[in-house]
Amino acid sequence: MRGNPDAVIVGSGPNGLAAAVTLSAAGLKVLVIEGAPTIGGGCRTEELTLPGFWHDVCSAAHPLALASPFFRRFDLPARGVRFASAPVEFAQPLDGGRAAVVTRSVEETAARLGADRRAYRNLFGPPARHMDQILPELLAPLRRIPAHPLAMASYGSRAILPAATVVRNWRTPEARAVMAGAAAHAMMPLTAVPTAGIGIMLVSLAHAVGWPVAAGGSARITDAMAEAVTEAGGAIETGRWVRSLAELPPATATLLDVSPKALISLAGDRLPSRYGAALRRYRYGAGVCKVDFALSGPVPWTNEDCRKAGTLHVGGTFEQMAAAEAEVAAGKHPERPYVLVVQAGVADPSRAPAGRHTLWTYCHVPAGSDVDMTAAIEAQIERFAPGFRDLILARSVRTAADEEAHNPNYVGGDIAVGMQTVRQTIARPVARWNPYRTPIRGVYLCTPGSGGVADEHR
Ligand SMILES: Cc1cc2nc3c(=O)[nH]c(=O)nc-3n(C[C@H](O)[C@H](O)[C@H](O)COP(=O)(O)OP(=O)(O)OC[C@H]3O[C@@H](n4cnc5c(N)ncnc54)[C@H](O)[C@@H]3O)c2cc1C
Repeated sequence: MRGNPDAVIVGSGPNGLAAAVTLSAAGLKVLVIEGAPTIGGGCRTEELTLPGFWHDVCSAAHPLALASPFFRRFDLPARGVRFASAPVEFAQPLDGGRAAVVTRSVEETAARLGADRRAYRNLFGPPARHMDQILPELLAPLRRIPAHPLAMASYGSRAILPAATVVRNWRTPEARAVMAGAAAHAMMPLTAVPTAGIGIMLVSLAHAVGWPVAAGGSARITDAMAEAVTEAGGAIETGRWVRSLAELPPATATLLDVSPKALISLAGDRLPSRYGAALRRYRYGAGVCKVDFALSGPVPWTNEDCRKAGTLHVGGTFEQMAAAEAEVAAGKHPERPYVLVVQAGVADPSRAPAGRHTLWTYCHVPAGSDVDMTAAIEAQIERFAPGFRDLILARSVRTAADEEAHNPNYVGGDIAVGMQTVRQTIARPVARWNPYRTPIRGVYLCTPGSGGVADEHR
């Protein structure tokens, strides 16, 4: 790149690249600096186990890549990125060969839920129908009256509750398991607020747009974004960790795709003490231990519908998943953890050689844990898919401590980059009219929070 850039962006995760795409399309000269050897941050795909087995290193299921306002504008399919959906969006196996099954249709899903059919339809039907009104408000900073107050009020009145409260009167283990499986993505006890909000949003997204994988791997998403940046004349440099803002070339704007903790160390004494203190009060959540498998065949779930699912929440009933999450919050490693599983090959056979499969799994662990949870994860899958262990050809493990070592944004292995408490949902990372703007002139955050790929960019 000749001369100084107009904008420097530190970090090439989906939110850093979204900023780079937006600014370079506006005609600015953009330089992206990435510390890791390859671009993509939490949106990468690698042969983690064996040659020909392509694993999503971090994110795997991408409802937000279809539904977020940024991606609606950017139009990934027009850039050759194909999303592949499984016949079942997600499922929760239960003992005895039963399962809770969520498909694109609210009606079809509710029809399997007996006594809870109406409650299910009433809770998830409206937000699924009004997703295009609700999601932009949730992803953007809260600083104006919502454009669709009725849709927001209807969602918000339940979202603010704990998941356990919302399902208090639900009777079927299947309906209760759907809520637990989705709400436990919050990485908080299911008795905490606002776990219902996370659960309602994720289930409603499954009905509104699905939980697809990117054909070929999540890296296709960030590769397409990087291509748009370079096509518009931007430059991307990898393998350069930035330790201080002082190292960066002069630019009108510096945008940081980093955690609040990293902002403190990059800015040093340039941060006003009040803002710095508020950043130090920012709370991070539990970590994850991720295990990727190369398999000689598909997972032999006892329940047939589970074999057709893109994602599975493996942990049993609402009570069992709630107990596992409560243990993590108490600083323990559950013997029977809540395990997230993505079997990308159901929708996208290109991930592994013919007849073989990749399996993406993780479970929650206390922040900073260096415990390898492989045995507990395998036992939970084997519980609902006897014979699973016999299919394992190879494994790749990342403890929570490893997650942070690979990407400093994941403080203590917290892949959501901060607890999703009510306070931190509303005022993230600190209470401020424009949370993207830091008090340092010309220095911005790419996203005030990082709940997914990707947040809103205006
Ligand atoms: C195991 C795991 C599973 C996940 N599953 C899903 C999922 O299924 N669906 C979903 O939507 N989301 C998922 N996520 C979350 C998703 O990956 C993140 O929300 C998303 O990547 C956030 O994007 P970002 O651009 O804000 O940050 P990141 O993707 O974290 O990117 C930040 C980038 O900045 C770089 N960087 C940081 N500090 C510096 C520095 N000082 N100098 C230079 N470079 C720096 C990092 O190396 C990284 O490349 C998952 C994450 C993990 C780890």
